[in-house]
This record gives sequence, structure tokens and C-alpha cells, in this order.
Amino acid sequence: MATGQLIIDLDALAANWRALDGKSASDVQTAAVVKADGYGLDAGRVARTLAAAGARRFFVAVAEEGAAVREALGPGPEISVFGGHMPGDAELIQGLNLVPMLNSVEQLTRHFEALPDHPFGIQLDSGMNRLGMEPAEWGAVRDIALAAGPRLIMSHLACSDEPAHEMNPRQLQTFVEMSAGLDVPLSLAATGGILLGPEYHFDLTRPGIGLYGARPFESAQPVVSLDLPVIQARELVAGETVGYGNSWIADHPTRVATVSGGYADGITRHLSNVGVFFHGDTPCPILGRVSMDLIGVDITHLGEVPPVLTLLGPHQGVDDIADTTGTIGYEILTQLGHRYARTYERGRT
Ligand SMILES: *Cc1c(COP(=O)(O)O)cnc(C)c1O
Repeated sequence: MATGQLIIDLDALAANWRALDGKSASDVQTAAVVKADGYGLDAGRVARTLAAAGARRFFVAVAEEGAAVREALGPGPEISVFGGHMPGDAELIQGLNLVPMLNSVEQLTRHFEALPDHPFGIQLDSGMNRLGMEPAEWGAVRDIALAAGPRLIMSHLACSDEPAHEMNPRQLQTFVEMSAGLDVPLSLAATGGILLGPEYHFDLTRPGIGLYGARPFESAQPVVSLDLPVIQARELVAGETVGYGNSWIADHPTRVATVSGGYADGITRHLSNVGVFFHGDTPCPILGRVSMDLIGVDITHLGEVPPVLTLLGPHQGVDDIADTTGTIGYEILTQLGHRYARTYERGRT
């Protein structure tokens, strides 16, 4: 076996959902965001695990993503679509019984014409300027929309991972104003919003990243671990180089392990010469450039050539890799490759 071993801990995923659910009052519903194939971890398996943990409402980005989730969940749970109702979506929305979050007057018109009796929600823009109706637009269609009975009215926070950011109370106030006097379930908080406190919770929360074990849910249990097999090891003398472009040059005798995995597996080239693997508790620096399928690692200080080296594990999570490479845990997770042998673990705890 020469592929990396990606282990996904479904018990940790379920525990993270329960922990985030426990942060809001018992009359606040906690949904689960499973877009981008469950943040790269397999939307079907993730949705089934979270349904078993108690989640009854799921969100995807686009209608096409609803298929795998509906297949995994069966007919009961509600699956909503952040992207709303796009041209050509009616058949999918009806066939999979999805609830589009209508983002504009255009989408509202399209939905009412194509599927007049089909459930929908409304997304409002409270300042992020990404998706949703702006205050004036909402004012214009509000009565028509309300008469048709939306399932949910939601908005999204731009800065909820920064608790002290003045944008948070500003968006909260805008959302409160835009939804004043409505007898419709409301939702504003993703993972970050849950952690901001009860005034951000409304009727339903929509955690994503925290379920998968990353910031801003600092006390999350890690969900993924990744070991790459060592294919070969060799001894270098001073002056020899490792990998493409000779970007690393030995200045002393060095033992280099070549592990199986590379940027084709989502291990970004930005880790070249700066990232580390682990052998147990011992860090082992990446030497030279990350190739498509292979990475050189310094194991001079180990007393042995280990069968595998760990990229994601107890000493280094997705947020640590993200910090090293100038991105966020979300991107590390959703880039995890499809060449790994994936093991979905249950019942460890
Ligand atoms: C992705 C997303 C979420 C989940 O956000 P996390 O930060 O991953 O918890 C919730 N709501 C909307 C509109 C989103 O786009």
C-alpha cells in the first residue's frame, strides 16, 4: 500500500455537533452544513452520522449537492440550498425535495413561477454583500414572500470568527431590523456566530467548520488524521540537494525519507521547505519542494526509518497546516485528495 491513509473519526464529528448544539438553548435548532461534499469528508457519510446524532436540517451550497445528501438521509430531513433557485434547478429541487434559500427578486419570481407550492426560504444580505436580498429589495417583495409562507429567513455574518469585530453587532442589528415583526423562523449564526452568544442564535444555527474540528471552535475534537507511507530512505552528504529546483541543499550528512503524497493529494506546494511531518512526538521537516506525488522529509534525528510519517495528527491539525501556508482550515479540509485510502471510524469512544 503506497497511498496515504486518511482516517475520519465520525464519533468526533458527532461529538462536535452535540457540543455546538449544547451552546444554544434547547429551543434553538442546530442544523448541519454539509456543502462541498461535507467539507471534503463525504457529504453522505457526514450527513448520516449527524442525523444519527440528532441533526434534522442540512444545508448545501448548490442544488446538485443535495443528491448525495438526500440519498444518504432518505425522505425525512430538510435539505436547504444556500445558492437558492437557479435556472434549470426546478426538477432537482422538486425531485430531491430541497428548500432553496431565495436570494433575489429574480430567484423569488423563478421559484414562484416554476414551483408555486414548493417550500422555500429567504436569504437576506445584512452587510456581507455576497448572497441575499438587500433591505430595499426585501422591502419591495416582503409581503408577497411572507404570504407564501417561507420556512426560514436567514443571513450570514462576515466576521464572526473575530468576536470583537464591530461588524458583528452591526449585522445583528441590520438582521433584527429586516426581520422585525415576522412570524418566521430566523437564522444568523454559523460556527462563529454560535460562539458569539445567545443574541446571535435566533431559531436555528448553521454550524459547518466546527463540526469538522477546526477554528473558530477551539475546543472541537479533531476529525481527520493523515499518515503517508515512506517509500524510500537515503543518506545525503553535505552539498547534495533534494527535489525539484534543488531548493534544499544539505550542509551536513542527512537522512531523507521520501513519502508518498503530494500536491495532487491537496498537500500544497506552499509547504515546501517550511512544513513538518511527525513521527510520534518528533517533528520531521519537509526538505525541498512538494512534488505531485512525493515529498522529501528529514529523518536524520530518528533512530529508524519509520513505515509512515504523520501530516495530520495529535501534534498538527488542519489549522496548523493552514497557519504555515497562509490559509484557513476550511481550505485544507476541502482540498484533501481522493487518492488516499479513506477509513471512516466509529465506536472509538
Ligand atoms: C458555509 C456557510 C455556513 C457554515 O459556516 P462555518 O463557518 O463553516 O460554520 C453557514 N451559513 C452559510 C450561509 C454558509 O455559506
